[in-house]
Amino acid sequence: MSNENSGVPEIKLVFDEPKQKVKPPKHFADLSPEERKAKAVEIGVPAFRANQMAVHFFSHYNDDPESWTDIPKELREKLAAEFMPKLITLVRSVVADGGKTRKDLWRLHDGVLVESVLMRYSDRTTVCISSQAGCGMNCPFCATGQGGLTRNLTAGEITAQVVAAARACAEGELPGGPTRLSNIVFMGMGEPMANYNSVLRSVRNITAPQPDGLGISARSVTLSTVGLVNGIEKLMEEGIPVTLAVSLHTPDDELRDTLVPINSRFKVKEVLAAADKYAEKTGRRYSIEYALIRDINDQAWRSDLLGRLLKNRNAHVNLIPLNPTPGSKWTASRPQDEAEFVRILETYGVPVTVRDTRGRDIDGACGQLAAAEITSEA
Ligand code: SAH
Repeated sequence: MSNENSGVPEIKLVFDEPKQKVKPPKHFADLSPEERKAKAVEIGVPAFRANQMAVHFFSHYNDDPESWTDIPKELREKLAAEFMPKLITLVRSVVADGGKTRKDLWRLHDGVLVESVLMRYSDRTTVCISSQAGCGMNCPFCATGQGGLTRNLTAGEITAQVVAAARACAEGELPGGPTRLSNIVFMGMGEPMANYNSVLRSVRNITAPQPDGLGISARSVTLSTVGLVNGIEKLMEEGIPVTLAVSLHTPDDELRDTLVPINSRFKVKEVLAAADKYAEKTGRRYSIEYALIRDINDQAWRSDLLGRLLKNRNAHVNLIPLNPTPGSKWTASRPQDEAEFVRILETYGVPVTVRDTRGRDIDGACGQLAAAEITSEA
C-alpha cells in the first residue's frame, strides 16, 4: 500500500456508519456457511437445517419459510424469525427495451431506497446491483454522488437484490421465457470498495457452489471501483478472481482530481499499478470505465494519452456515453468525437468497446430513479 501522500488520511475500507439508527436485521446471507450452522445450533436447531435453508434460498430463490415443506411447520416460523427477515421490498419496477431491461426500486427496512437493474441480452442476463445507499465519492457527473452517502448496505441487502434477480429470471418475468441469471455487476449505487466486508460476503454468496451460494462463476461478477487502491490490494488476496473495473474517466491526474475526487488520494499511476497487480495475480483482464463527456474528457489528445498509458497493460476500455444527470451542463460526446476517440485507442492496440445505452430512458445505471422517488416523497 502506498503512503507517500503523507498528511493525507488513510482511506478506510469500511467507512464509519453515518446516520444509521437501526441496524438492519441479521439475515442468513449475512453469515458464512459455518456461521449459519453455528447459529442454528445456538438456537437449538440441528446444523443440517442450515443446508436445507441454503437450498431454498440459493438454489430455489425461495425466502418464504412458510412454503418450505421439508421443514416441520413449527420450526419454519422460528427459522423465518431468526434467518429470513424481509430485507428489501419492491416499491416499483420500470421497464424499457420491450421489457428486456427492468429497473427495480427497493425499500429497505428503515425506508432507505436503492435500485437494481436487470438486463437480458441474447447470450446473457446481467443484474446491476447497489452496494450502498447513496455514495460518498462525490463524482460530479454521477447522480448518486450528488446526494452523499446515506449508509452501507449489509451483505444480506446486497445478496437479496441478486436473489430477487435470479428468481425473476427463473420465473420467466423477462420476455423470452425462463432463463438463468449469468452476470452480476456492482455498478449500481455506491462504491463497493468503501463497503468492503459486506460486498465480499455477498460476492462469496454469489460465487460459492450450491448449496452454500448461487454457484455463479467469479469471472461473471464485476466489481467496479473509483480506484481505492487498498481495496484492490485486499481483494487480490481473497482468492476470488472477480472481474475488476476501474472508473478512470481520464488519463491525466489534473482532470481526474475533479471527475473522481478520490484521485487526490490515489493517483492514476497508483490505481493502474494496483489493477496490473490484480490482473497478474488473478489472471483476469481488467476493465477501464470511461464516461465520455462532451468537451471535458473526449479530446483526441486524451485518447492518445490513454492509449499510451494502456497499450502494454492487460486492460480493456469500456466507453460509456455520459448519461446526463438533471441540472448538469455536461452531456454525451458528439458521435464523431466518440468515433475518433475509439479510433485512436485502437491504433495502440487497446481493446475498446462502447457500452450500449440500455435503460437510458429509465435512467439506468446512475441512481436517478431512487433520487426521483426521494424528491417526490420529500
Ligand atoms: N462506485 C463505483 C460503481 C459506480 S457506477 C465506480 O465508480 O466504479 C458504475 C459506473 O457508472 C462507474 O464507472 C461510474 O463512473 C459510471 N457513471 C456514473 N454516473 C454516470 C453517468 N451519469 N453517465 C455515465 N456513466 C456514469
